[in-house]
Formats: sequence, structure tokens, C-alpha cells
Amino acid sequence: MCPQCSKCEQPAVYLRRYTSEALCKVCIVKTTEERVRRTINRNKMLLENDRIAVAVSGGKDSAVLLEVLSRIERDFPGAEIVPFTIDEGIRGYRDEALKAARKLVDSLGMSLEVRSFKDLYGVTLDEIVSSRNEKGLGACSYCGVLRRRAMNDVARGLHADVVATGHNLDDEAQTVVMNVMRGDGRRIARMNRSRSEALEGFVPRVKPLSDLSERDIVAYAYHMGLPYHDIPCPYSNEAFRNDLRVFLNQMEYKRPGTLFAVMHSAEGIAELLQKGTELDKTGTCERCGAPTASTICKTCEMLDDLRE
Ligand code: SF4
Ligand code: ZN
Ligand code: ZN
Repeated sequence: MCPQCSKCEQPAVYLRRYTSEALCKVCIVKTTEERVRRTINRNKMLLENDRIAVAVSGGKDSAVLLEVLSRIERDFPGAEIVPFTIDEGIRGYRDEALKAARKLVDSLGMSLEVRSFKDLYGVTLDEIVSSRNEKGLGACSYCGVLRRRAMNDVARGLHADVVATGHNLDDEAQTVVMNVMRGDGRRIARMNRSRSEALEGFVPRVKPLSDLSERDIVAYAYHMGLPYHDIPCPYSNEAFRNDLRVFLNQMEYKRPGTLFAVMHSAEGIAELLQKGTELDKTGTCERCGAPTASTICKTCEMLDDLRE
């Protein structure tokens, strides 16, 4: 016999291990949305009249993010959601993911803003990868820097007050441990900047799913029947992250709550570092005027290297 849902009388279909809740379909959906609301309120991520640019990739995390935010937003008539996708130009991957993103956005009666690396930088990621010389960086290094800039520029162009991304608890905990294991603990302070600490020139970024595990997200997406694309990027070379995913999943299984404990430690470290040090100062890039801590921003430096 099926165990009973901890919240109602229905048969449970999912065990949320870190809260020991057995949940039925209806309660998976309800409690997931409640958790996101709590995360948003606790960290003051969103305000009532925000224009929220939601980064949609076509994957499950951002599908859940958009669905949940669109439900929460119904209670805030002054708020507005603008979904957007950055198309890096990865043939067979981003074009496929875009189809799923469009399907979801259509089902919510919204329209999707799409900006590509090609429009913004005159070059696709596929072209960068095939033209880079032997000193060239890995695909993800180009992709990360250029996408971060693209997201900020798009959000500014859309007059958004805030950008929401679909990072989940597993992603965040993996990133913390990766930074520690690379000896880059200071990065933890930058990872957890709150909305009010956004640097000048940057649209603040928030992660409303950061208290939901990947399992929670898959359960929600499955029970809501959300369309998403689940094929890995052909350039994905995330061996280190994958090792940590396996390790952290094992620890989470043995000791439910481990992922939250990692995040709690990271918040404590970030708080101490921020108290003891001045946050990075930003000036503006001599070339393009974007905010940067050096004279030339990372994007211009990268594009210059590629032109050489
Ligand atoms: Fe970009 Fe790397 Fe992610 Fe592919 S795996 S989308 S190249 S960051
Ligand atoms: Zn229930
Ligand atoms: Zn620049």
C-alpha cells in the first residue's frame, strides 16, 4: 500500500527527504510553490511592482521557475514577467532547447525575447570554438563571460528591475564546494550577493529556486507536465562538477540536509568576508563603458583575443 501524504489523505508519490515529507501530486505542487515564496520573501528577492526578466534556457530549472513565478505573480498585479533566452549559437542544442522554451512561454500566454551571441557579438559560440587558437580557452569560459554580459544587457534593454535565474540548491552547493576545492573561497562572498548589494551598472540577479533540490524540481516539472529539454550541451566539460554532484548526492542521501548545511556555511563565510573587506569597486570599461573592476572589461578582452 502507498504511504499517505503528510499533508492530506491522498496516496504519497514523492518523499522529500530533507523534510521527511511524503507528498501526493497536489501537495508536491503546493509545497514547491510555498517554498519558492518563502525564499523570495526571506531574501527580499522581488518587490510588488517589479518588472522581472526571467532567464529561460529551455531546461527544467528555468521551466519550473517561470511556471512558479507566473503563479505567484497573479497575486501581485503590479508585477510583470518578461521571459528571455540567450541563444549562444550551439547547433543541435540551444536551437532544440529554444523550442521547449517557446512551448512553455506560449502555454503561459507570454512572449519570449530571444537575443543571440550573433546579434550581440557578431559571432556564435560554435564559431568561437572552431576559430580559437591553441591558447584559446574552453568553450564554457567564453560562454559564461559572454552570456553574463548578454543577460545584463538584455535585462537593461528590457528595463527590468531584476533578473531571475533557475539555479537550484544542488547547483549552488556544488558551486560552493568547487570554489573551496579550487582554493577560491573569496568567490563565495561574491556568489551570495543580495539584491540590495548589486554592483552599479548591473541589474540585480536573484535565484528563487535556491532552496529547492534538483529532485524537487524534477518532481514538480513531471507532475505539472512542463515541456523541457534535457540533453546536455555538447561542450559541457563539467567533470569536476559531476564528481561533486555524485559526492554531494551520496552525502545528501546519507545525511539529508547536507546541501542546506553547505549553503548555510557559505552564507556565514560570505557574511564574515563582507564585513572584513570592501566589496570590489567597479569603474567602467574604456572600450564599451560597461561596469568592470579593471580598465578593460572581460568581454572586450575576450573579443579582442578572438580577433587577433
Ligand atoms: Fe555554455 Fe558550457 Fe553551458 Fe554549454 S555547458 S551552455 S558551453 S556554459
Ligand atoms: Zn497531499
Ligand atoms: Zn568592455
